[in-house]
Amino acid sequence: MSDPKEFAAGRPVVLRGGTVLTMDGAEQVLPRGDVLVVDDRIAAIGPALAVPEGTVEIDASDGVVMPGMIDTHRHMWQTAMRGYGADWTLTQYFVWYYLESGRHFRPEDIYAGNLLAAIEAIDAGVTTTVDWSHGLQTTQHADAAVDALQAVPGRFVLAYGNIAQAPAAWTTAPEFRDFVGRRITGDDMLGFQLAFDVTGDPTFPEKPAFEVARGLGVAVTTHAGVWGATNDDGIRLMHDHGFMAPETVYVHAATLSADSYHRIAATGGSVSVSTESEQSAGQGYPPTWALRAHGIPVSLSMDTSVWWSGDLFSAMRTTLGADRSREHLEAHAKGETVTHAALRAEQVVGWATRGGARALGRDLDLGSVEVGKKADLVLIKNDHSPVMFPLLNPYGHVAFQAQRGDVHTVLVNGRVVKHDHRLLGVDLAAARRTVEQTVEHLRSTLGEEAWEKGMNPDVPETTILDNPYTYTDYHSAGTHGS
Ligand SMILES: [Zn+2]
Repeated sequence: MSDPKEFAAGRPVVLRGGTVLTMDGAEQVLPRGDVLVVDDRIAAIGPALAVPEGTVEIDASDGVVMPGMIDTHRHMWQTAMRGYGADWTLTQYFVWYYLESGRHFRPEDIYAGNLLAAIEAIDAGVTTTVDWSHGLQTTQHADAAVDALQAVPGRFVLAYGNIAQAPAAWTTAPEFRDFVGRRITGDDMLGFQLAFDVTGDPTFPEKPAFEVARGLGVAVTTHAGVWGATNDDGIRLMHDHGFMAPETVYVHAATLSADSYHRIAATGGSVSVSTESEQSAGQGYPPTWALRAHGIPVSLSMDTSVWWSGDLFSAMRTTLGADRSREHLEAHAKGETVTHAALRAEQVVGWATRGGARALGRDLDLGSVEVGKKADLVLIKNDHSPVMFPLLNPYGHVAFQAQRGDVHTVLVNGRVVKHDHRLLGVDLAAARRTVEQTVEHLRSTLGEEAWEKGMNPDVPETTILDNPYTYTDYHSAGTHGS
C-alpha cells in the first residue's frame, strides 16, 4: 500500500471505513464512512461506496477522516531557525529578527525555511498554510519563497511582507508590481495576501499599502492587538479610512478594547488566533473568550517555528485550555463555579478546518468533507499507538488525544502526499542539507558569541522596543505606565 507509484497515476482514491468528521456546518459524523476522491475533488461520501475500477483503496478503519487543517498565519521563513528562540519574549524576537539579524537572511535562506516549513505542514495534516512572509527584503527573496512553496505538494497562500521597509514603500515599488505579475497567476494552489502591521501612527503611513491591496483585489493580514506594538489606534485608523473588510485577517487580536472587537465584527473580518504564541510571547491573553462574546469568526495558527511547531493539534489543544482557563478564573473571582464548558472540542476542530477556509474566502471549496469540494483530507490513524482507541468522542480525540505522529494519510488537491505515515515525493534529506547551509551562513555571519547570545538577546536600553518598526517613531502611550 505504501508504494508511491500506486498514487502517481491520478487514479481515484477511496478512504474506507473511517469515522468521518465532515465539518459540513451540520457537523455530520459518519461512524463508518467511505470518502471517494476523483481527480482533485471529493466525488462521494457514504457507507460501502461503489468505486470506479482501478481505485486505490486506503483502509481508514479505526481512524478519523477529516478536512485538511488550515493554518492562517505562519512565518515559514523562520523555520530554518527551528526552536532557537524557545525562551524568547516578543521583545527579544523583535530585537533579533526586526532590528538585528533578520537582514542577514538571503533569498536562499528564505527558501530553506519555507521548504522545511512546507514539508512540516503537510506532514502534520496542515493542507493549507498562509505564509506570513515578512522577511522579503527584495523580490529575489519573494521569488525564493514562492519557489519553495511550489516545490512542496501543499496548498499555500503567500502573504507578502517586508519588515525592513515601510509598507508604503515596498508595496508601491515597481519590482513588487512586477513580481505580482510574474508569480501570482491565479493558481488555486498559491493564494496571495498583503501582510503588514498598522502602528497606530496618527498620520496613517500604512494607507498607501491598503490602497495597493485594494487595487490588486487581495486581502490584508495584519498583526493587531499585540501588547505594546499594535492596538486600538490601528484598528480605528483602518476603520475610519474604510480598510476593514470581510477578507481582512487580524492576527492575535489579543490586546484590544470592546470598541475594536465591535469594529471587527461589524465589518465581517476574522481573527487568526495563535494561542501557543500569545501564551508565551506576550501579545495578550489568547482572545477566543472575547471573540466568542462578539461573534467574530476564528481561525487558528502556529505563528513561527523559531518557538513552536507547525502543528495544529497543539493549536487546538492550547486554545481549548486557554479559553477554559479564562472562564474558570473569571468565575472563581466572582465566587462561582463553571459547571459546563462553553467552548467545545467540536468548535476548535471547526476553527482548525472550516474556520481557516472562511478566513481565506475559500469556504465554498475548502474546509469540510463534502461532495464537490476540493479533496484536501487527513486520515488520523495509528495502529501502533495505544492512544487511538477507544474512539468514543471523535472531536475530543482529535483535539486532546491525537498528535502529528498519528497523521497516517494526507491528500492535497486529490493527490496523496503522505501515506502510511510517510511523505511521498518529498526529499527530506535534500531539505536538511538546504537548511544546514542557512544555519551555517547565519552562524558564521553572526559569530559564535552572538549566535549563543541570540538565544537570550539583550534589549537595548536606549530604545523603546514595543513598536519594532523603524519607518515611524510612533509609540503608544498605553504601555509605558502613562
Ligand atoms: Zn506573527
